[in-house]
Amino acid sequence: SFPAEAVPQAPEDPLFGLMRAYRADESPDKVDLGIGAYRDNTAKPWVLPVVKKADEILRNDPELNHEYLPIAGLASFTTKACELILGGASPAISEKRVTSVQTISGTGAVHLGALFLARFYKIHGANRTVYLSNPTWANHNQIFTNVGIPIATYPYFDKQTKGLDFEGMKKTLADAPERSIILLHACAHNPTGVDPTPEQWREIAGLMRAKKHFPFFDCAYQGFASGDLERDAAAIHYFVEQGFELVIAQSFAKNFGLYGERAGCFHFVASPSSDASEITTRVASQLAILQRSEISNPPIYGARIASTVLNDKALFAEWQENLRTMSGRIIDMRKALRARLEELGTPGTWNHITDQIGMFSFTGLSEAQVMKLREEFHVYMTKNGRISMAGLNTRNVDYFAKAVDKVVR
Ligand code: PLP
Repeated sequence: SFPAEAVPQAPEDPLFGLMRAYRADESPDKVDLGIGAYRDNTAKPWVLPVVKKADEILRNDPELNHEYLPIAGLASFTTKACELILGGASPAISEKRVTSVQTISGTGAVHLGALFLARFYKIHGANRTVYLSNPTWANHNQIFTNVGIPIATYPYFDKQTKGLDFEGMKKTLADAPERSIILLHACAHNPTGVDPTPEQWREIAGLMRAKKHFPFFDCAYQGFASGDLERDAAAIHYFVEQGFELVIAQSFAKNFGLYGERAGCFHFVASPSSDASEITTRVASQLAILQRSEISNPPIYGARIASTVLNDKALFAEWQENLRTMSGRIIDMRKALRARLEELGTPGTWNHITDQIGMFSFTGLSEAQVMKLREEFHVYMTKNGRISMAGLNTRNVDYFAKAVDKVVR
């Protein structure tokens, strides 16, 4: 029989452990800076007004049923998701060299991409290595390991400047074997909040082109980072313009606040060539087989909500407004936190708080300082010193800044 007795206890997921500890804390001052989800200024989850409208529309539709979606998902959703990430006028779309598959949010898209590469990214019979930024979203390690793709890392975060270690990153990309898979965060890098500048992206692309590396973009924060959908997709637009063959994992969790609905998409883009559209058709056929065996077909409701918004001009404009509300509040909290720390004269430099972008900031606090914040001040953040800016609001930013000031001194 199956020797279940031999199954060892696995460690708890650190982030979910942190959430549990926060919930158990009875202090009225407690602050949750671990959570990777948007909170409004009263620390509550925010259902986007445009999502509420789409929900109304769907609920009032007498034709709505609960049938299965096709294997590749809701076409009205994947078509618009593709236009959103590549730009509606992208030649990749008109030349029919993109195929899109609806996935279980961004995680499912990264997984489907990893699985596809594990199966088909074989050069001279060898599976290639994926290079992940150091640090990266912890789940990247597990997802690629699960499908048997070996992992290497490239330097990313410079502890001194609390910005990008661009020289280190370039050196590793240049030294990596040709045709390595390079995982890139399209915008709002998790966990550091540090993104390359447009000029740096051009250099990265040039280097990757020279080494024939394969770009794997993970895009979990389009529109959520800067408030501007185009700007947050600029790196992907540039790589596609440069003619790269690449893949994209796209999440609608953060930018629509559809976390639990698991709306996402995986895109494969072929390089421009006379047989690009045939290659794309073959890739689509294989993705369908992988999808069928993994999840059969994707969940319907989140995709319907997103599709309703993406296919309606007025709702789309309202969504952009909602995105600006979320990103604007986060940017305000960055400014407020930096200003408070500078007013207090907290030792160190704090410009990185406003230089970094998106949901997260890498504060530079040490593990000992993080633990002290938790034990003495009821402030919860991951051990690496990452804070979720969404956990800050006008009521707790002062308290947090003072707590940081005390543990840093
Ligand atoms: N990739 C990155 C870098 C992320 O930060 C996240 C979410 O935190 C995801 C992917 C996937 O999230 P989800 O599966 O909820 O879309």
